[in-house]
Amino acid sequence: MQRARITVFDTTLRDGEQSPGCSMNVPEKLRMANQLERLGVDVIEAGFPIASEGDFAAVQAIAATIRRPIIAGLARACTQDIERAWQALRGAVRPRIHVFLATSDIHLQYKLKISRQQCLEQARDSIRLAKSLCADVEFSPEDATRTDHKFLHQVLEAVVEGGATTLNIPDTVGYSMPEEFGELIQNIRQRMPDKVTISAHCHNDLGLAVANSLSAIGAGARQVECTINGIGERAGNASLEEIVMAMRVRPDRYPYETGVIAEQLFPASQLLSDLTGSTVQANKAITGRNAFAHEAGIHQDGMLKNPLTYEIMTPQSVGVPDSRLVLGKHSGRHALGLRSEQLGFQFDRRELDEIYRRFVVLADQIKRVEEHHLLELIRAARGAAGRIPTEVLATPVISGQSYFQRSSPVAHGGRRTVPVHSGADHHNEQEDYLWGV
Ligand SMILES: [Zn+2]
Repeated sequence: MQRARITVFDTTLRDGEQSPGCSMNVPEKLRMANQLERLGVDVIEAGFPIASEGDFAAVQAIAATIRRPIIAGLARACTQDIERAWQALRGAVRPRIHVFLATSDIHLQYKLKISRQQCLEQARDSIRLAKSLCADVEFSPEDATRTDHKFLHQVLEAVVEGGATTLNIPDTVGYSMPEEFGELIQNIRQRMPDKVTISAHCHNDLGLAVANSLSAIGAGARQVECTINGIGERAGNASLEEIVMAMRVRPDRYPYETGVIAEQLFPASQLLSDLTGSTVQANKAITGRNAFAHEAGIHQDGMLKNPLTYEIMTPQSVGVPDSRLVLGKHSGRHALGLRSEQLGFQFDRRELDEIYRRFVVLADQIKRVEEHHLLELIRAARGAAGRIPTEVLATPVISGQSYFQRSSPVAHGGRRTVPVHSGADHHNEQEDYLWGV
């Protein structure tokens, strides 16, 4: 069966960059844009050219150097903005002007102070101007999810008539629920001509940005707007990596394709964190430090026997070199033995028992047992440092990003090695299970 293709519109450099603590200068935005191209996104929204000289320069530089994806620039629905956006974009191989205008009564009344009729005319006129400059024009009715449906349809019809080829429906304030957003998209899809692409742009104020985006795709949207690490205004935008991997892991429910090269997701996340200094929360899906970590003994034991027991996707599939078996107080002998093996030690049952006993005492006192702690334990258990190879003593402490870059016997193979158990190990395994309960 032919799977429908979803256009991935990345707005990390526009909506994402607008969020506190995420601003980037021109060279930084260029580095990020290069990584987004490697990642295989279809559209890069490079900035909001009228917003500042820096934004203009960034859009212009990206338009001139990033050749494969469409490069979009944002503009309010007015002449000055649209012309400025076009100046920045005109060097692109495939430029797109993205015009937005609020359509909800609350925005019309309090922010724009215009009537619905004025809004309708402004939307149509601005799209006509954009279309006279650029063949590819996108329109967003800001705060669409709080807009009167009848009026929303009127505006959308007017901008399609004016030449808009993509209609992006923003849940600007993160207010919508998945079923509700899906119904809205389905309604719009049914009323608009097939040649027009319907797009979703969801914010995460209620933690539903990804769920809403997937619901929109199910209802006929063929473009999603999203950001790396889900950065963006307030609680952020829909996370690109989560949407892509949801479709990748569950094609039975979401039979859609994207051009994203999933192995580039983690490098993109790391680069963005490095550039902005804004770290990813540890338990963030796909790209968080703990996204592939397993500490509980029963989980570790299952993982070592067959990763599919607790892993719905491999860390390698999203560009993380290896999953992390975190040694903590819930870990079992099995994981402790494997980590020791990775450090170059083989223990018989008696030795491992002794090290494990000391490990449990230590793990009760500190949250996470790092490699240097383990080395000290081994040294103490053996009674002398003489038997520990010097290169092992020189091993740096595992921390953050460097962990993923280090080479280990496990990482070398690209897949975890799963030790084969003999019947004699059975008792050990039982104990591991107890530690995980
Ligand atoms: Zn937004």
